[in-house]
Amino acid sequence: AKDEGRNTLAFFDPRMQARLFSRARLEADLRHALAHDEWRLYYQPQVNADGRLIGVEALLRWAHPERGLLSPGEFIPLLESTRMINEVGAWVLECACEQLAVWQAESRTASWEMAVNISPAQFVEADFVPRVEAILQRTGAPASRLKLEMTETLFVEAEDRLREKMQYLRGLGVRFSLDDFGTGYSSLAYLAYLPLDQLKVDQSFVRELPESRSNGAIVESIMALAGSLGLAVIAEGVETHAQYEWLAARRCGAYQGYLFDCPLPVAELEACWRGA
Ligand code: C2E
Ligand code: CA
Ligand code: CA
Ligand code: CA
Repeated sequence: AKDEGRNTLAFFDPRMQARLFSRARLEADLRHALAHDEWRLYYQPQVNADGRLIGVEALLRWAHPERGLLSPGEFIPLLESTRMINEVGAWVLECACEQLAVWQAESRTASWEMAVNISPAQFVEADFVPRVEAILQRTGAPASRLKLEMTETLFVEAEDRLREKMQYLRGLGVRFSLDDFGTGYSSLAYLAYLPLDQLKVDQSFVRELPESRSNGAIVESIMALAGSLGLAVIAEGVETHAQYEWLAARRCGAYQGYLFDCPLPVAELEACWRGA
């Protein structure tokens, strides 16, 4: 009876209840957002060693009517667990490809590339590949300037058609970047097996450069591994000159981080970077 009492107390823990309510509320709000055009794409510059813009990463924001602009950490997990990620992910791809087609048509922006984050839950959908192909056709975006960012979590789901799907899209010109590299648990064998183009060094390794010798060793190994597999490397979360210089001294090809710019709405991105 004593234990039961404890369980009852735990069940009515007001903090826990608040959390349950807010999750339910968030889910209802997400369904509302789907129908009411509350999604926004921000674009963060990716630059080469000379600081010239080579492309952008599209990052999702939610313009919540009461809570303002929300970052994906606050709602992506819920989108993924409810499978709403497929619908929102399709919107992201469509919007990013429309923008890519616009940039393609103007000489000052024609070389810009677009990186788009793809959740494992999206990739494993049976119609993911035809969906991407249809979006490319509908928007007229150049497939060769579209890069899909995937994470190692996808490999853990052991999708048997993963390689086939990637190869088909690659045949259209689409490229693949492995995001948050070094933080997952996948086998390195995947790097040789899958048609990847780029490794994205996770910001947790970059953060402690140049002081941390162990993180330095990890980043050097990732760069060596990428080099011998013929993969490009981009470092994310570059915030300081010292980090940039450390990476540049080791011939890192591409950089992304607050040192260069934060994620921006399209008008600001163009105003700052077009012609730069
Ligand atoms: P990510 O793909 O690793 O994206 C990088 C995150 O780091 C972004 O956070 C970006 O704003 C932030 N960041 C950029 N530069 C710096 C820096 O110099 N220092 C630090 N500390 N952070 C930096 P954001 O926009 O909040 O996105 C968080 C995550 O949400 C992303 O991590 C990605 O996994 C996910 N996400 C964002 N947009 C989408 C989307 O359209 N679809 C899917 N499936 N996931 C998305
Ligand atoms: Ca990413
Ligand atoms: Ca990342
Ligand atoms: Ca991340």
